Amino acid sequence: MIRRILLAAAIMLPVTAMAPGALAQSATDVRALAAMGDKQLMKLPAKKVFGGQKGPTTSMKARAIGSYAKGCMAGGTALAVDGPAWQVMRLSRNRNWGHPDLVALVERLAKESKAKDGWNGLLVGDLAQPRGGPMLSGHASHQVGLDADVWLTPMPDRTLTRKEREEIQATVVVKDRKTMDYSVWTEAHAKLIRRAASYPEVARIFVHPPIKAELCKWAKGDRAWLAKVRPYYGHNYHFHIRISCPEGSPSCKNQPTPSPKDGTGCGEELAYWMGKVPWKQAEKPKPDTKPAKPAPPLTLAALPAECRAVVTAE
Ligand SMILES: [Zn+2]
Repeated sequence: MIRRILLAAAIMLPVTAMAPGALAQSATDVRALAAMGDKQLMKLPAKKVFGGQKGPTTSMKARAIGSYAKGCMAGGTALAVDGPAWQVMRLSRNRNWGHPDLVALVERLAKESKAKDGWNGLLVGDLAQPRGGPMLSGHASHQVGLDADVWLTPMPDRTLTRKEREEIQATVVVKDRKTMDYSVWTEAHAKLIRRAASYPEVARIFVHPPIKAELCKWAKGDRAWLAKVRPYYGHNYHFHIRISCPEGSPSCKNQPTPSPKDGTGCGEELAYWMGKVPWKQAEKPKPDTKPAKPAPPLTLAALPAECRAVVTAE
């Protein structure tokens, strides 16, 4: 009799009394999310829900939903961890997912730059999570499956082990925020970035400011591609490729076309980034100043409504 009661209790427990870990687990489990009431679902932190997704939607057509820094992705595909001219790094993050158009573009860049630019293959950093969305760590963007980070370190000739892909550090190609490190930087780096910027589907490339300065100095002949290469903090060991909204993604929001006043962005805009102003803004507050209260985490309600379907779909 006692045994029967205990057995019943063991079966009942997960349903009647939610253990403390249960909500955390249900916040990532697609079926649990689908079973949840809208009210409860919408209050969940978006990065926790999307950060815990292990696989893509399989029942929805591929599309990017929302904007680069506030959205999600349906029907994502994985970039193979090893390809003829690339290797994916940091496999434990499970961020090698993207819209099929982005995955195809990375593969094409890898092959073409290897064949034509003297670049020995790509080491690929983060694309997006299996269903995109905000992440638990790093990146404000990379949410809709249209952003990819590529290391400025050429791929070695051998296949890296899983462990090496976690531990190897990328090579920083600058000495500081104004100066290139020519012991690392090569013309093949410049050709690789030019090739990426030349693809019509690419909307933006982000690089550290002295890299942009270097490209401005280096580029001969057609310089139109330079307009897409924009200086931005934190891109001293990788560059960031962003493609435009693909066809069949009606709720995807493009950024306005880059239009630096000086055409290539090699004049005024670059001068601004080589100056102090943007860096002053990004400086950390002094230790004796009271830290600003962190903003509450984005809930699922703050994302486009379709993202609700993305985290509850099979
Ligand atoms: Zn990035």
